[in-house]
Amino acid sequence: MYDNDPSANIAIPELPKSLEGLADIALNLWWTWNPKGQNIFHLLNPYLWKESGHNPIEMLKKIPQQELDDACKDEHFMREFHYVHTLFLKYMQDKTIYSEEEPLPIAYFCAEFGLHHSVPIYSGGLGFLAGDILKESSDLGLPMVGIGFMYPQGYVRQIIGSDGWQNGTNETINQDIAPIERVLDESGNQLIIQVPFIDPTVYVSIWKINVGRVKLYLLDTDISQNDPWDREISSHLYTPDMNQRLRQQIVLGIGGYRVLEVLGIEYSILHLNEGHPAFALFERVRAYIKDEKISLDEAIERVRKSSIFTTHTPLAAATDVYSFDMMSSSFKDYWENLGMDKEHFMNFGMNPDAPSDGFNMTVFGLKMCQNRNAVSQKHSQVTQEIWKNVFKDENETNVPITYVTNGVHLPTWLGDELFELLDQTLGENWMQMQDLPQIWEQVEKIDNKTLWDIHYMYKVRMVNFIRERVRRKWADEGIDPLVAMAEGVMLDPDVLTIGFARRMTAYKRPDLILHDLDRLEGIINNFSKPVQIIFAGKAHPSDNVGKKILQHIFQTAQNPRFRGRIAFVEDYSEEVAKYLVRGVDVWLNNPQIPMEACGTSGMKAAINGTLHFSVLDGWWPEGYNGTNGWVIGSDVSDDSEDAKSLYSVLEQKIVPLYYDIGASGIRDNWVSLMRTSMKSVGPYFSARRMMKEYLKKFYLPISKTIQKEE
Ligand SMILES: *Cc1c(COP(=O)(O)O)cnc(C)c1O
Repeated sequence: MYDNDPSANIAIPELPKSLEGLADIALNLWWTWNPKGQNIFHLLNPYLWKESGHNPIEMLKKIPQQELDDACKDEHFMREFHYVHTLFLKYMQDKTIYSEEEPLPIAYFCAEFGLHHSVPIYSGGLGFLAGDILKESSDLGLPMVGIGFMYPQGYVRQIIGSDGWQNGTNETINQDIAPIERVLDESGNQLIIQVPFIDPTVYVSIWKINVGRVKLYLLDTDISQNDPWDREISSHLYTPDMNQRLRQQIVLGIGGYRVLEVLGIEYSILHLNEGHPAFALFERVRAYIKDEKISLDEAIERVRKSSIFTTHTPLAAATDVYSFDMMSSSFKDYWENLGMDKEHFMNFGMNPDAPSDGFNMTVFGLKMCQNRNAVSQKHSQVTQEIWKNVFKDENETNVPITYVTNGVHLPTWLGDELFELLDQTLGENWMQMQDLPQIWEQVEKIDNKTLWDIHYMYKVRMVNFIRERVRRKWADEGIDPLVAMAEGVMLDPDVLTIGFARRMTAYKRPDLILHDLDRLEGIINNFSKPVQIIFAGKAHPSDNVGKKILQHIFQTAQNPRFRGRIAFVEDYSEEVAKYLVRGVDVWLNNPQIPMEACGTSGMKAAINGTLHFSVLDGWWPEGYNGTNGWVIGSDVSDDSEDAKSLYSVLEQKIVPLYYDIGASGIRDNWVSLMRTSMKSVGPYFSARRMMKEYLKKFYLPISKTIQKEE
């Protein structure tokens, strides 16, 4: 049924008959990773396309009717349009690529999805991973459906004051111009469902986003049927109020499960990305008991066998834990309904290392899912150590948490021009074989000048983008010159550029490079070999330590001694990330080991030829091969030692290599390293490799088990 659930988009105005297909493209995020799809809107009206922030729905709302009529008569435009529409329809109907074996349908739950800036329902890495997973599942033709939350005020826009202090405003999602559709009931109203067992009753309305062939359903509590305080349940991501957070997670897990049932969405495998939606597991047990008339134990066994839990936290303290009191007041009817007593119920979330703390969502996920994974090899070791006592009664010799290292969706994160160059170099069908190292070997065929020219173009674009933002701020608000300098107005595309863009929080050590300002000044202001650093990233609104670190960086950037060569770009987003991962020369990553579960921004950089410079944490122990980037420090973090290591590698290796310009005027050795980086990171850290691994490790074996039992 879910292929043709009745839905309505309120935003797209009526289009001329011959352009109706434009709505198909506008209402499917497919265009976000297909340059040809973007080109149609660009052709239609380049100015409106830019002004709309590359949002086709906003653009179609604003474009004068006359222009649409003219476009219908424009032969060139219509040819291009038919071509793209055909491509789109073909994509939607194509047979699956992996084809040989088909897994059973998968429901993928996550608290956030990072897909595109017109749908601001994400805060960071977890969301972009989930977004890339949906996109890649669509490309592969996996039978997947996503479940998430509509956060009407989900997105925090970062505004930095002249004193460097971060102020945030919550951006309200504009439902009129977002590529979202209402899911309708039989009478044509927006479908509203009741979340079972939450007292007082909470209702959610349902939205849908098309991500290629995958559908993502979003739950929204901001409707008039709810009490005012319940309307707020889905208003913000990760609210710090634990009571509200519990209600949020009940709505996501149990309500999300209900959505699947009400829409008649068939699925067999439940994949939970992080602990937030884990209550879906209880609801699944309840549904099995009720619908299949099996015993509690049998139902639990079935849920365990067919559910997957992916953990992302490297710290026990970073998981959600709800007091038993809070849990009791929400779930006392619920466990009775399941035929459990309180002890049995609570036991699922009891952490043996801290049994009195309450109900731990990660422990719950680990216990209720027999299929468990961390997100990098290193992270699996850390995870096994943290949670070993959860499994001590199970006679397991090894802690049963495997890993599937994250990857990035190549068509989303590779620059268009670079993508085209790869099309020409690796052969037309390279995308079908993007996870094969042999395919990427052919990157060696790209000559130095061609690759450098593309990189340099990205660098210029990035610098222009940053300067343009500062110019606008200058024009709108009349900012102080030192603030303009700190925001990057003095950046120079010819200077070796280091990028550091990630959440501003203590464990990521964003200010490690500022550890010894005198030594740093020597590096930055080297007369013939200067260096510049671009920072970006948001602090969590309640993380004052993170905000202080950000302020320290911003104030350092305002210090004239660094001559405008340190910049802080405001409001890090997917758009800013795309400019930075392509445009800087070196991507810096120096968290405290072992706090980075995986990290994906460095992968986005490396596939674009930006060289990775990182501590050996997250994905880098798997990614680093001795010749495709650089390492900072040792296995154990120490701020002072790590800073020294960082400066030494910069002074002795990175700076000399960058400024080693051959007789041809080209940086031959640098570009050679860019190729090494691209071809070593591209195949393995692609979302394609990641999804194939999920298939092989989980989706297919689970499907076989289920089919055998049926
Ligand atoms: C990729 C990405 C992230 C996650 O990157 P990390 O390496 O985990 O920090 C966060 N924010 C944006 C905007 C991204 O594009």
